[in-house]
Amino acid sequence: MSVLGPVLIVVLTVAVMEGVAYSVHRWIMHGRFGWGWHKSHHEDRHGPFEKNDLYAVVFAGVSVLLFALGGRWWPWMWWVAVGMTAYGLIYFVVHDGLVHQRWPFRYVPRRGYLRRLYQAHRLHHAVEGRDDCVSFGFVYAPPVDGLKTRLRASGVLAQRQSRHHDAWRPDRGED
Ligand SMILES: [Zn+2]
Ligand SMILES: [Zn+2]
Repeated sequence: MSVLGPVLIVVLTVAVMEGVAYSVHRWIMHGRFGWGWHKSHHEDRHGPFEKNDLYAVVFAGVSVLLFALGGRWWPWMWWVAVGMTAYGLIYFVVHDGLVHQRWPFRYVPRRGYLRRLYQAHRLHHAVEGRDDCVSFGFVYAPPVDGLKTRLRASGVLAQRQSRHHDAWRPDRGED
């Protein structure tokens, strides 16, 4: 394999993983089947961990398996595992770190794409419960204005606004 092969596999895997994560988040985690674990992520956290972290453990388990199989038989699969690991790191930095501040410092992006990503995911958490949520991706975030329009259309934004004041605002407050 030339050097281009591995690079291509890693980049493609990261892109595909965003699609996989979006789908799992939208239809499994927010579905009847997966909400049991994911619910903890939409509630206040007690202690350093939440049940939802088990999803990360499952994904880590899959990549360990791919590393093992790839290392033994299929080199390309080993690079897929590298891509999955890279996606996991990106996910950790932007979702757990940037948005939910599960690290010992506070940094809120004020401009550019990171701000949009931050706000979009806060809006994902603006809805209580598992239905009517928006923005299921973790690395790609749709424009924030469109998300707000959808939340207003389903009555979520106005509702939250009167009940919790500013709590819905994506650039402030906690979950
Ligand atoms: Zn969610
Ligand atoms: Zn979140």
